[in-house]
Amino acid sequence: MSEPPAAGRLVVVGGGPSGLAAAWKASVEAVRAGASLEIVVLEAEDEVGGKARTEHAADLLIETGPQGFLDDQPVLREMIDACGLSGEVLAPEPAANRRYIYRGGRLRELSRSPLAFARSGLLGPIGLARLAMEPLVRSRQDGDTDGGAGDDESLFDFAARRMGRQAARRLISPVVLGIFAGDARQLSAAAAFPRLVAMERAYGSLFKAMRAGRRRGAPPPGHRTFLQGIQSLPRAVAALPGIEVRCSQRVTAIKRGGRGFTVASSAGDVAADAVVVAADLPAAADLVDGVSASAADELRQIASPPMAVVHTAFDAGAATHIEPAYGFLVARGEGIRMLGCQYETATFRGRGPDGTFLARSLFGGSVDPEAADLGDAQLVDLTLSELRRTAGIDAEPAWTGVARWPHAIPQYAPGHPQRVARIEAALDPIAGFHLAGNALHGVGLSRAIAVGAECGESAARELLN
Ligand SMILES: Cc1cc2nc3c(=O)[nH]c(=O)nc-3n(C[C@H](O)[C@H](O)[C@H](O)COP(=O)(O)OP(=O)(O)OC[C@H]3O[C@@H](n4cnc5c(N)ncnc54)[C@H](O)[C@@H]3O)c2cc1C
Repeated sequence: MSEPPAAGRLVVVGGGPSGLAAAWKASVEAVRAGASLEIVVLEAEDEVGGKARTEHAADLLIETGPQGFLDDQPVLREMIDACGLSGEVLAPEPAANRRYIYRGGRLRELSRSPLAFARSGLLGPIGLARLAMEPLVRSRQDGDTDGGAGDDESLFDFAARRMGRQAARRLISPVVLGIFAGDARQLSAAAAFPRLVAMERAYGSLFKAMRAGRRRGAPPPGHRTFLQGIQSLPRAVAALPGIEVRCSQRVTAIKRGGRGFTVASSAGDVAADAVVVAADLPAAADLVDGVSASAADELRQIASPPMAVVHTAFDAGAATHIEPAYGFLVARGEGIRMLGCQYETATFRGRGPDGTFLARSLFGGSVDPEAADLGDAQLVDLTLSELRRTAGIDAEPAWTGVARWPHAIPQYAPGHPQRVARIEAALDPIAGFHLAGNALHGVGLSRAIAVGAECGESAARELLN
């Protein structure tokens, strides 16, 4: 085991977006301080990126994990600039503003126009009337409790209270499937959609908050990716100077001792003055166990159910009847196992040859974990039969691909904010130890990167001061 250099060694466990953001931000701090910090990223797989993985097959660009990111974190833009990728950032095609929900046996547009929305049939007359009353609904006060998880409320209960049960069931639940592959009744409103809860607190109503945003001219954050796919970002960060990435090195344990920590990996022990754990769940829990058994136990309570992502590409002609759109989500209870389908070639340019229609269908999650365990052929057959029923695509695909994530997206159950507080109370006193990733503060790529950057910055400052 080599001793760390005098200025200190930071070991980052996990070369996904969050871990690489930690490494990048630590390197920025070192340059700012004019000090040399050794920054080592240990990644279990043979390449960086974690779930941000882009593959190329049959002239198609395939995103097996995240397909894009929310452009809502200034630090993410800073990192993109630092990698020289600003010119590669890609906005969706205008048609991708159109989104559908499959309900009542057909696709219905989730329109922003109140009239078109009312006519879509997504809500019945009672549901529409109840939704229109949202601005009149009393806002939740501090101290109101749901009897279960302290002040926390499930996303379904939050939506039902504000918008009515029909909107919660037919609109919010499918949208939640698209983001968490999760059940709105089993997710914490405050943790999963903090912005909605903040809107209610600030304006007393979601509609009033949206109107105020429009009056301020504040556009909602955009959905973005990169010309060459989402993995461009982790690859570019890993190539920055001042960061040493060691792939195919799985960390097996972290122990306190020596100058700080001993990080045991498949390639031997590494001494570290500071550690950022940016492995995904459940690996992160096992690694945290070496420094805090109670934090590890709490992390083990956060479920991360499996998902399968099925790509089907159709030649020109097979899908000409399909309106270009972002895609659709499927309300539960329709007899369809697919959670939703993204029309990749209609959303971002450069995802396939002209005329090709590339569909990306999602299965599994907490609502149907068994679907993610079906065999490849079964999943492709299921996708094709469900695309026929939902989108009317009745053609043989020119190419298919199945990707699997055994631990896909952490589920923030009601009580998650309290769990996060307990984990942080256990870990904060351990100088030099930081937990990044998307287990605690937001499951999306942009939040995982922001949290990683925060951890990297704190770790570097501790070492450099
Ligand atoms: C199907 C799917 C679709 C998604 N779509 C979107 C989307 O469209 N937009 C969006 O914003 N987010 C999306 N997400 C979420 C997004 O993937 C995560 O926000 C992001 O990957 C989190 O980054 P991370 O670095 O925290 O974790 P990960 O990407 O999981 O990276 C963790 C890394 O740690 C490594 N690791 C694990 N254990 C060890 C160990 N013991 N030793 C060393 N290394 C280890 C892993 O190999 C991996 O490289 C999606 C996720 C899935 C599964």
